[in-house]
Order: sequence, then C-alpha cells, then structure tokens
Amino acid sequence: MLQFLGKSVYNGITMGPVALLEKQDDLVRRRRIDDAEAEVARIAPACSKAQEQLQALYDKAVKEAGESSAAIFEVHQMMLEDDDYLDSIYNMIRTESVNAEYAVAQTGDNFSEMFASMDDDYMKARAADVKDISNRLIRILSGAAESDLSSMEPSILVADDLSPSETVQLDKEKILAFVTVHGSSNSHTAILARMMNIPALIGVPLDLKEIHSGMTAVVNAYEGKVTFEPDEELCRQTKAKIEEEKEKIRLLENLKGKENVTLSGKKVHIFANIGSVGDVGYVLENDAGGIGLFRSEFLYLGRDTFPTEEEQFQAYKQVLQTMAGKKVIIRTLDIGADKQVDYFNLGKEENPALGYRAIRICLKQPDIFKTQLRALLRAAVYGNLSIMYPMITAVEEVQKIYQIVEEVEKELKETQVPYKVPEQGIMIETPAAVMISDELAQIVDFFSIGTNDLTQYTLAIDRQNEKLEDFYNPHHKAILKMIQIVADNSHKYGKWTGICGELGADLALTEEFIRMGVDELSVSPSMVLKVRQRVREIS
Ligand code: PEP
Ligand code: MG
Repeated sequence: MLQFLGKSVYNGITMGPVALLEKQDDLVRRRRIDDAEAEVARIAPACSKAQEQLQALYDKAVKEAGESSAAIFEVHQMMLEDDDYLDSIYNMIRTESVNAEYAVAQTGDNFSEMFASMDDDYMKARAADVKDISNRLIRILSGAAESDLSSMEPSILVADDLSPSETVQLDKEKILAFVTVHGSSNSHTAILARMMNIPALIGVPLDLKEIHSGMTAVVNAYEGKVTFEPDEELCRQTKAKIEEEKEKIRLLENLKGKENVTLSGKKVHIFANIGSVGDVGYVLENDAGGIGLFRSEFLYLGRDTFPTEEEQFQAYKQVLQTMAGKKVIIRTLDIGADKQVDYFNLGKEENPALGYRAIRICLKQPDIFKTQLRALLRAAVYGNLSIMYPMITAVEEVQKIYQIVEEVEKELKETQVPYKVPEQGIMIETPAAVMISDELAQIVDFFSIGTNDLTQYTLAIDRQNEKLEDFYNPHHKAILKMIQIVADNSHKYGKWTGICGELGADLALTEEFIRMGVDELSVSPSMVLKVRQRVREIS
C-alpha cells in the first residue's frame, strides 16, 4: 500500500480505479531521434485516431447541443488535414531530428501565434483551435489518457493540478474523487469539486511517476488520506464506511420540504450555487429554495469561441424554466484571474487577481457584456431572474452598468424582442464595496457577499497560492465585521443581503450569520440540507 496525506477540500470516502491526468508539458520533452522517417511515420496513424475521436465528439455534441455547437469539431477535423500544418511538423522532425511530440507542440505554438497576430477575428479565434488539435495529437502520440475521459469508467482522478477550464470539461458521472499534488482550497477547482459533490484532496505530496492509470485507490477525504493499492482489510473497512455515508445522506433526506427556520422562528433562505445548466438537477434534488449564484462564466470556459447570444439565452431560459418561479440569480461574466480562456486574449498579467477581470472586462469591452445582457433580459421573461454584477468597487461602475443595460433594453424594444429588466444586485467582494455599501444599497436591489474574494482582498492573500493556505482565514474578525456592516447597510434601505462565497456553508458560523441578519445563504447543492439541519437546531 502507498499512503499519502493531503488537505481535504470536500469530504467523502470512495474507492475505485485511478485515472492519471498527465499535464501536456510533461508529454512533450524534446528528444533527439536517429530515424527521422520512422518518427514521421508515427504522425499519420495519430491523425487518424484524432479524426476518430473528433468524429465521436461531433456526434455526441450534435445529439446533446445541436449542429452549431458541434461545428467546432468539424473545424478541428479540417485543420488536421491542413497540408501547411502537417508539412511543418514533418519538416521539423527531419531537419531538427526531434521526436514527433515535440515537433507537433512547436508547430502548434507557431501556428497559434501566427493566427493570434492576424487582424481577422475569425482567424484570431483559430489560435486556440490549432493548440487544441496539437494537444490532442500529442496525447495520442504519447499514449496518455484522453483528456475528455469520455470512455473511462468512474475513476479517482489524479493530477498534478487542475485548472477551472479543465475541471469544468470533466464528466461528473465519471469522477469518484479528485487527488492533486498542488492547488488551494479556495480555488475555483476546489469550488467546482464541492459543487459536483465529489470528495477532493489537494496538496498530496505524490510522485506521479509512481502512479499509473488503472491502480486501485481509496480516498478518505475525512482523514485527508489517499491509499494506492489498498490491502483487503482497508477495502473492507472502506466499503462499510461508504454504506454509513449513504445512511447519513438518507437521514438528511428527511429534511426535504422542511422550512429553514430556527427554533425561535427566524427564517433564512438557503439557495444553491451552480456553474452549468446541468447542475440544476442537483439544486432540485437537494431542495434548495432557489439559485443564489449561477457562475455564468463557466459557459465561456472549456471552449474555443464566445458563446453566442442564442446559446446563452437557451441556457438561462432552461435554468429559469426548470426552477419554475423560484429565484435564480445569474452573475454576469467573471472571467480573468484563475479563470483563463484563450479566445479572450487577456494576455499575461503580473497580478491577475488584481487585474483585468470580471466587470472590468465587461465595462471595457461592452460588446461582450451586451451579448450576455441581451440573453439575460430575453430569458428574464421565462422565470424569476435576478442579475448580479461581480467585483464592484464604485458607484460609478454600477451607474455605467445601468447605462449599458438601458442601451440593451432600447435595442430590444426597437426590434420588438420580448424582454424584461429584472432585479439587479451586486456582489460585495472588495473592501471598497463594503466601505461604500451604504451608498451602493441605495442604487441596487440586493447584495450578495463573495467571501472568497473578500477574504483574498481584505487579508491581501492570493486565494490561489497554496503556500498561503494557513494564512487564508475567512473567520478573521475583519471579514465578520464587514459582513455585519453590509447587512446593516442593506437593511437601512430596505434591501437584502446574502452570502454566496464558500463561507456561507460554514456550519460553525450559521448561527452568527443569522444573528447578524443575513437573509440568504447560497451554498453548493450538496450543503443545502446540512445548512438547513444546522439552522433548525439554532435556538
Ligand atoms: C466569491 O468571491 O466569494 C464568489 C462567490 O465568487 P467566486 O468564488 O466565483 O470568485
Ligand atoms: Mg468572487
């Protein structure tokens, strides 16, 4: 048995086969080869395999999301047949005597840079595609697991680290647990694990060379432990614990349909956080009263082009219709920082968390913002929508947003497209917003406190930095005082305050939040019933 300790970011216990997700960089080490023609001969079969994979992805996407969403896989298939691209790979192998993986990676980078520097927007967008097809070829050439994992059985995913865009592409049904060498508990990847209800360990000091796909592993996130090749006794104990867990979940089920009310009669809303249309099932399954945070930027991750207005409209409409009149708070695009998307061409920044992200991008590039707003205003007709704006620091930003919303409204009216301007609120996730929350409360409909970023910006701690895990303390007095200030200022003007950061699910603070007058807690779907249980115990 090989045992390692890490930090649990979502509790649970599970057992199953390992799927090792190797990083692209590890697969493309430059090697000198003697027989260039033998190396060149490896390319054609890899291309055929890639074509097969792309065809399967195309067929799946047509079935699940329609022709237009699937078209990108056709583009990839065509690019794989491009003579210039293939000739460049062959040429590099022959002239530099390098291995095929390295030649493909270099060619992918060169072509990607060339596309990115073109003026034509369509060609610019191909920069990410050529990287994608090159990565696919490299994985095939090096015999690594397919990154879309579509053919694997439910497994424990082991990786060096995972980015939000990698995580969002994973099929939840195929993952029993996450185990990563790096990562921080406040990263979006950890948040996604909690949202997906999947046990997750980060900071596990593994040597990935000792681990291979197909090994059996036990993840006990309660103990922060992962065991590879467990003995019979551990397998037996784990099976018993998995049954105990199921029993606990069955007991929580009794709370479905019950009110979120304390013993003394104080009520609080318990809503759920989601990242995709597919998560709505978990919201209903866990009996949440509404959706307190739909991180709409996840619609933009894990793809090569901007989602169109129509695609977004359909996604929002589906969520609103499925929630059938329950409140749905959709946060506008919060891209940037750790949520990077190639086609936004955001460039490298010294301090991405303090950088060009969220509402700043929307205000600087109003065309992107307007597309999303049009989709939201159109979808508002189909249910109980509220729009929420992230990373607000100033009254002027909100006024600018309202101007843009008015422009969108005017355009929709002129073209006689049905729409509604819904309730509009803001996230309080910067200390600046806390300090002017009395002014902001007068111009918005509600506040939702993003404690993940508020902690990052108040304590000056990069939430992504794993070295600072021990310093990142959302229980810090400064944070709790800020929550009180925000709740008080909202109530002064008849508005309400919720918490949608991870702290909202912290059962040690539920009582304090209610005492402070917090009106809503929005938590990952799997925490809804646990928070309800806690609320109902408070006197
Ligand atoms: C937050 O900052 O607390 C929040 C809810 O937003 P995100 O975690 O997506 O930045
Ligand atoms: Mg935030």
